Amino acid sequence: MAHVKLHIPGPVEVSEKTFKAFCQPMIGHRGQGFKDLVAKIQPQLQTLLGTKQLAYLSTSSAWGVMEGALRNLTQKKVLNCMKGAFSDKWLDVAKRCGKEAEALQVPWGSPIRPEQIEAKLATGQFDSLTLIHNETSTGTMSPLAEIAALKKKYPDVMFIVDAVSSMTAVPIHFDALGIDVLLAGTQKAFALPPGLTVFTASPAALARAATAKDRGYYFDFVEFQKNAAENMTPSTPSISHVYALASKLDDFFAEGLENRYARHKKTNQMTRDWAARHGFNLFPEAGYESITLTCVNNGAKSGGRVVDAAKLQKLVKDQGFLIDGGYGKIKGTTFRLSNMGDETPETMNALYAALDSAMAKL
Ligand SMILES: *Cc1c(COP(=O)(O)O)cnc(C)c1O
Repeated sequence: MAHVKLHIPGPVEVSEKTFKAFCQPMIGHRGQGFKDLVAKIQPQLQTLLGTKQLAYLSTSSAWGVMEGALRNLTQKKVLNCMKGAFSDKWLDVAKRCGKEAEALQVPWGSPIRPEQIEAKLATGQFDSLTLIHNETSTGTMSPLAEIAALKKKYPDVMFIVDAVSSMTAVPIHFDALGIDVLLAGTQKAFALPPGLTVFTASPAALARAATAKDRGYYFDFVEFQKNAAENMTPSTPSISHVYALASKLDDFFAEGLENRYARHKKTNQMTRDWAARHGFNLFPEAGYESITLTCVNNGAKSGGRVVDAAKLQKLVKDQGFLIDGGYGKIKGTTFRLSNMGDETPETMNALYAALDSAMAKL
């Protein structure tokens, strides 16, 4: 069957080179070969995340570590900052883990603002908070640095940050931000196959985790730290993913991180320009748009002609590209175009050409 190229916001297209790396023969995960592999990528990951802490490799999708962070760090009550499908879900996950949890809900498409968080933290009820940097369902990015600045005033609150669809596309310096957990699943901006999550934790987070009696085993941060210190993982990892990650990190540093950030900015601007050319406006509040994907109002809010997002999706798919027809409660009124991963101006132009031809048929 002909491959339909992915322009949905995850999983994204995986390169031939990455697949080749993924398919190398297995090695033992307690052997020197695996330790050497992790030892090679550890400093690259630390540079990427802007940290002196060890980076951890979890064989799970992002939700594993998102849930694990709560089990390791929330003892009193967690504040769930909610602005879209993924961030809203985190409240539900906290409750399912038996945690005391409270919503800080803003309308979908709005960012989370530091003063909103501060008003909640000032009550003194919270020992942790969850924040999604780039809410993928709405294409909205919250001001992470301004929010992280609150950590100075509330040092005992664990700041758990999901950068699933922004890590590697936007500079995020863990140590400088002073946050406690930073995580990303690799099927988004990393452009690896789904199944691996990269994360790190602050010394304060590790100290808190050590006192959590019901933190479980699979996502035990203390185990991750102990094993990472010896270039290993607590349990048998997806070794294929680690091979692929090693290959990908070499790609990142060959391109240069700054160039990678600039490329995402550029291809994202091109997508916004495409939307403007067709009279569409964007779903997120102005000034808070994601730079890895574009969430477009399909006309309903633009005041222009309303296009059928499902039809647009089908016409584009017939030309070999998969776009997203909206997520959760904004399915049908928005569509999303991803520029994350390996996309270049050339590959994005091929997508716009397919979209243009589809638009002409609508
Ligand atoms: C995709 C996504 C997730 C969930 O990732 P899974 O791989 O399905 O666990 C969480 N947060 C954000 C921001 C995402 O984009």
